[in-house]
Amino acid sequence: MPKPPVRGADAADPFAPLAVRSAATVDAVDPYALGPVRKVYLIWLSGASCEGCTVAATGGTHPRLEKLVMGAIPGLPRVELVHSLVSVESGSAWVENLRLAERGELDAPYLITWEGSVLDERLAGDGFWHAVGEDEATARPITSREWLERLAPGAAAVVAIGTCASWGGIPAAAGNPTGAAGVGDVLGPDWVSSAGVPLVRIPGCAPLGDNYTETVAALLLHLNGLAPLPELDASGRPTWLFAETVHSNCPRARYYDEGVFAAEQGQATCLVELGCWGPVVQCNIAERGVIDGHGGCMSMGGICIGCTMPGFPDRYSPFVDGPPQPRAAEPAVERSAGGFARHMRLVRGRHARRRARAADATAEWRPGPGATPRFYRDGLPATPGPAGGHERPRG
Ligand code: SF4
Repeated sequence: MPKPPVRGADAADPFAPLAVRSAATVDAVDPYALGPVRKVYLIWLSGASCEGCTVAATGGTHPRLEKLVMGAIPGLPRVELVHSLVSVESGSAWVENLRLAERGELDAPYLITWEGSVLDERLAGDGFWHAVGEDEATARPITSREWLERLAPGAAAVVAIGTCASWGGIPAAAGNPTGAAGVGDVLGPDWVSSAGVPLVRIPGCAPLGDNYTETVAALLLHLNGLAPLPELDASGRPTWLFAETVHSNCPRARYYDEGVFAAEQGQATCLVELGCWGPVVQCNIAERGVIDGHGGCMSMGGICIGCTMPGFPDRYSPFVDGPPQPRAAEPAVERSAGGFARHMRLVRGRHARRRARAADATAEWRPGPGATPRFYRDGLPATPGPAGGHERPRG
């Protein structure tokens, strides 16, 4: 039986849809407000996700998510967070926020943050992989992919957080039956938002919370007319965050330069011979740390496994190489000039092979032969959409 709609819920009810409660609140006149946008809704949707991106975002410190929600940052509109995990309302009351957005009935612009892979529901047979809420008339489950299609056309911006949302990530690894893909595989390569913003990707498994909150803040400044569109690279990543390799800022880089390499886990020197992908992976974790400047893969003794990159995990596995035998077996030779040169040739050879494997790492990730075609290359089946629909992704 179709469930009764929750529109018109009492705005004083703390479990009423956030958009209903928010619209009933009259913002005090703020003489210090900068820009025309006083409030935005940030609709956080997820597909195949471990919720690690949510955990990462809540750990952001520059700026903190709380300050965005409080509207405490000059020039930034207050963010009303409609989150699939942390919102107080649930069930149909939560889904009503999405319906209001789809109908254009929110009292402020909205952005979408998408966490996790988007699943190809055509492969789900008579069931579905992932759904959120039901059709009010038929009680048909509405898949999360369908919500993405419905809401993306009206969004001021769409941010794909994490590697799953950016490129497919772990759910898209070889052998997965769901046809998992990234948000861009659904929206298409030329998609831009209603405000002219292309898809923004913040990859990482999990991503740095600061990378996300800082990018959202930059987008809000832009939407408020106070800053240009944040600079994005060809893959939609903020250029200032992802232009350099892990290796560029690694705390172990001096050991690399000196040719001093760890032969086993736990050593303080360069980890390249244990499988570190740092020289070819674009990520700022070595520079920024994980939370408030602390932590990070190499700081904590771990190698870079390429988790920010298209094609992760398949293209970067196996992650851990065994220690190089000549170092342990021939220390005297190693100390000689000839041994050192041979050793460096070995390292350069490994790097060449790694670069070859990651040669198109900044290009759109392409599935291997026999894999499920990506959504936009294969066309999409007709699904109910907002009035007027939207342009189908182009292949
Ligand atoms: Fe570069 Fe990795 Fe060595 Fe750090 S540990 S210096 S990122 S190769």
